[in-house]
Amino acid sequence: MFDGSDERERFRRVFYPEADAARWSDWRWQVRHRLRDGHALARVLNLSETERVALARRAGGLPVAVTPYYASLMHPDDPRDPLRRTVIPVDDEDRLAPGERPDPLDERRDTVVPGVIQRHPDRVVILATGVCATYCRYCTRSRLVGGGERLTGHWEAAIAHVASDSRIRDVLISGGDPLMLSTRRLGELLTRLRAIPHVELLRIGSRMPLVLPMRITRKLVALLRRHQPLVVSIHATHPAELTAEAARGLARLADAGILLAGQTVLLAGINDAPETLRSLLRGLLRHRVRPYYLYQCDPIPGSAHFRVPVEEGIALVERVGRDLSGLAVPRYVIDAPGGGGKIPIGPVTMVGREPGHLVLRNAHGQIYRYPDPP
Ligand code: SF4
Repeated sequence: MFDGSDERERFRRVFYPEADAARWSDWRWQVRHRLRDGHALARVLNLSETERVALARRAGGLPVAVTPYYASLMHPDDPRDPLRRTVIPVDDEDRLAPGERPDPLDERRDTVVPGVIQRHPDRVVILATGVCATYCRYCTRSRLVGGGERLTGHWEAAIAHVASDSRIRDVLISGGDPLMLSTRRLGELLTRLRAIPHVELLRIGSRMPLVLPMRITRKLVALLRRHQPLVVSIHATHPAELTAEAARGLARLADAGILLAGQTVLLAGINDAPETLRSLLRGLLRHRVRPYYLYQCDPIPGSAHFRVPVEEGIALVERVGRDLSGLAVPRYVIDAPGGGGKIPIGPVTMVGREPGHLVLRNAHGQIYRYPDPP
């Protein structure tokens, strides 16, 4: 079966001849050897003029980083390669569109102590670190990721806040990417949160299982298993990310009984073709990852080229959903600007009311009546 691993092996031998297979498979080696600028990326990809200019102009803002593994999945000569477009800047990133702003979800307003966002009484988000393995050009938190480990300095206050508010039952550890923390540091955080009696559920939001699947070590999985119930929310973008290496990591997590959920941002020209989105959602479910959110891309500065018009997004989800089991169909949502939370958007399916009946429209446009007396 073709899974691309021969290509990745060839990539390693050509560009990293000093790294044997064991080093290549070591996530720390991958992190240390991330491609961080135009010069490094030009060694492994034929950069287009717009990529080259955008990379040269980067100063401040969201940094650039690509793991060698993730770079090995990209087409070296095609700047339209979907994975390439998610992590390599282009000049469109410098154009501000109406409504775009650095903190569109008003997370700063809902920050109750440094590094803790609380929008609902029973749930909090802890920004455990500011670093990621790769930086997604459409990142909602582009205003703060890449700023080193400074967020880790706030753990004491964050843990004290969770302990002091007995309404909190669900803690999402996010960032940045929390799996960039060492297993020991992550273990400290999980142990301290798990010791708080009212905390029922721990969640970790990460892109590492797909951009750096080597991070899913046996030691990490053993740690996560000790802190059940625990959900790993995996940020997935494109079916090309579902490689043999990613499959191994996902299988390790699922075999350990960890609930896996998929989150995807709908991105123009990247995953907005029906066959691409269908293949991604099917692939995730096949690897025991339940797709649960499909996000409309947040209006961060310079992200207009990623946004799909909402009506097109709705039609796409309806079309794709027709061919998939309900388990593979995520909720298409807009995280409301101003901190309104995730608002599901979708086709109008309740199209009318008649005496004693609700009039419904299915995904094929057929009309049905359901008895629903007043
Ligand atoms: S991995 Fe997540 S936090 Fe990091 S850049 Fe991508 S979207 Fe942002």
